[in-house]
Amino acid sequence: MLQVAGFLDNSTVNGKGLRSVLFVSGCKHNCIGCHNKDMQNFNYGDKVSLDYIFNRIQHNVPLISGVTFSGGEPFEQAEQLTILAKKIKDEDLNLWCYTGYTYEEILRSNDKHKLNLLKHIDVLIDGKFNKSLKEDVPKYVGSTNQRIINVKESLKSEKIIIL
Ligand code: SF4
Repeated sequence: MLQVAGFLDNSTVNGKGLRSVLFVSGCKHNCIGCHNKDMQNFNYGDKVSLDYIFNRIQHNVPLISGVTFSGGEPFEQAEQLTILAKKIKDEDLNLWCYTGYTYEEILRSNDKHKLNLLKHIDVLIDGKFNKSLKEDVPKYVGSTNQRIINVKESLKSEKIIIL
């Protein structure tokens, strides 16, 4: 089961192309100017089964090109989201994920669930939101410190490859 704050069947603003977006509940980053403050609460929203979410995603195929995990902090529910991520990849959908952790923090975490989730993600938008850096932001990020990372290429080359 996942603690879910919201779900969008079709969105064009949470990653490239038309995408379904899953917002999970719970986040400890406490960014100043957080735009999803309600979703910081780990009890916000509803407990939802992975099967229900996956069926919702499948309903949007072939309209969507991918799925985005957002929140809240997806990496706080990494074990459950990895199961869902595998199913999404088996559907040939690309997977984007927003996180308040940096790519380096996830790699250094030594948390097997976080590392497993990372391996299933195609594109990671990383780092805490910084409201003093929100002018002139590129598409899909909230503040200019955040990066749009090609995860597969970054893991392969052991350096960060920006999309
Ligand atoms: S990571 Fe996102 S949800 Fe968490 S505090 Fe920062 S802006 Fe809010």
